[in-house]
Amino acid sequence: MNVEINGAPYQFDNGLTILDACRKAGIDIPTLCHLKNLTPSGSCRICVVEVDGARTLVPSCAYPLSEGMKVRTNTERIRDARKLIVELLIANHPQDCLSCSRSLTCELQKLAQELGAEPRPQWKERRTYPVDASSPSLVRDSNKCIICGRCVRVCEEVQGIGAIDFTKRGFQTMVLPAFNEDLASTTCVNCGQCIKVCPTGALSESFAVRETIDVLNTKGKTVVAQIAPAVRVALGELFGVDEDNVAPLLVDALRRIGFDYVFDTNFAADLTIMEEGSELVHRLTSGGVLPMITSCSPGWIKFIEHFFPQYLPNLSSCKSPQQMQGAMIKGYWAKRMNLDPRQVHVVSLMPCTAKKFEAQRPEMEVDGIRDVDIVLTTREVARLLKAYDVDLKTCRPAAFDHPLGEASGAGAIFGATGGVAEAALRTAHKLVTGRDLENLDIEAVRGFTGVKEATIALGDLRLRCAVASGLANARQLLTSLGSGERKYDFIEIMACPGGCLNGGGQPTVFDVDALQERLRKIYAIDAGMQLRRSHDNPSIQKLYADFLGKPNSETAHRFLHTHYHPRPEKV
Ligand code: SF4
Ligand code: SF4
Ligand code: SF4
Repeated sequence: MNVEINGAPYQFDNGLTILDACRKAGIDIPTLCHLKNLTPSGSCRICVVEVDGARTLVPSCAYPLSEGMKVRTNTERIRDARKLIVELLIANHPQDCLSCSRSLTCELQKLAQELGAEPRPQWKERRTYPVDASSPSLVRDSNKCIICGRCVRVCEEVQGIGAIDFTKRGFQTMVLPAFNEDLASTTCVNCGQCIKVCPTGALSESFAVRETIDVLNTKGKTVVAQIAPAVRVALGELFGVDEDNVAPLLVDALRRIGFDYVFDTNFAADLTIMEEGSELVHRLTSGGVLPMITSCSPGWIKFIEHFFPQYLPNLSSCKSPQQMQGAMIKGYWAKRMNLDPRQVHVVSLMPCTAKKFEAQRPEMEVDGIRDVDIVLTTREVARLLKAYDVDLKTCRPAAFDHPLGEASGAGAIFGATGGVAEAALRTAHKLVTGRDLENLDIEAVRGFTGVKEATIALGDLRLRCAVASGLANARQLLTSLGSGERKYDFIEIMACPGGCLNGGGQPTVFDVDALQERLRKIYAIDAGMQLRRSHDNPSIQKLYADFLGKPNSETAHRFLHTHYHPRPEKV
């Protein structure tokens, strides 16, 4: 269709909003409540534009483009309206920018600066609310909430949970869990997807940077870091480092700030595959519960506990790589080093807020010794390094410590949706047939499609697999499983859309291209490795020879496996 924007002619396809069309044309329109892939609400009205024939300014995010339309996006009337909206928001907002977790990345702060919005003390009718720090993963500060509703929509539409919603009306409107419960008592699964979409500091992870610095300063503690697969393809974004894999730089950075040892969670991802692959083959050959469903994603685990407890027997009993690595650091490596595991402090660097919840679950310890002591998100890792004035750009590549630092490409791809399934299939093929899979790239389970399916030949056995990421997709998959519409032997589920590379603790990006780039980097790391199958990892083979015996052994179960339990479906 033909339209005119700011006096210039344009042609667009049908079915666009004015905002879509302007973005396609490279015309900037500010937004707050709007987010691509979520239902437009048009509630904040920052994106207003003038349309010939319309009596009032219209919200461009919700207004359909039509043939012959004449649109203006940046007149004085529009600028005044936008400025007034922001001034009303900041009139009822704490002026905490100096200490706020979102300072410099806050969309409200940026808009206020760009529009020249000023505080209007005469309008000040401040509401004050208690901060909800009940969750081990998230902090909710309603004082900084601008009622944009992005968190409500992502929780409902993308995660299929609805743990939070609008309550009250007008000036009293708030976003809260049902019945004003604290977040920890609800069905919130700690995925942190709401943090990633929040334009302000109203939602953030529970910060553990100060606690980490205190531990680093404690004499007599051996402080050990582990770095998850997806951290290395995203942390560089916060330092302007483009490399596919920043893990070698991060190892150097962590040593500079005082970590005694740095291990690779990819090693434990290989270990997970040995345990999970063997468990799958055992279930397939002994009439065990099928489909077996992966258990690496703690947001997914809490989701199934709340909403699909009937499938708990289908979950693999394997702990996640984070927990396996912690259990091996304290239960195996510390002993070899003649260290008291109680004096070893494990700090996990994770793309995920739900890992904070997982680390403190009562199930995640061996003989009273916690597997993991502190979890930092990728964003917190950047803050920790900046607190020590360490810039990743100035670090030199360094190797992980051994033996828990050697990993295969199969461990690396755990960071992407489909990666756990692909890694497991590479090893399951060997376990079932005695031969290695010829083509290691299982394309059918790669990519961002919400639910993927593949049938993989393991010798004479045809393994029916499904992969889902994003919990609304997981809900759809389990519902179709329950109705008998679909049948599988093996299912991989990750709570966050796209997998850990888009975890709730990763740098905030709304750009699909940036996520594609993280995905590309993950597969590039795998493709560039000599070692691409977990069972070929010599350090894993040695761990079994020295300590665990064989996969799923009694010792392996004691350290590496666990169980889960039903939780209420409603608050
Ligand atoms: S949310 Fe934004 S505007 Fe509010 S205090 Fe934090 S940085 Fe400042
Ligand atoms: S952390 Fe996840 S489940 Fe909890 S409120 Fe946010 S989006 Fe919903
Ligand atoms: S918490 Fe954040 S995302 Fe949710 S409504 Fe408030 S400002 Fe918007």
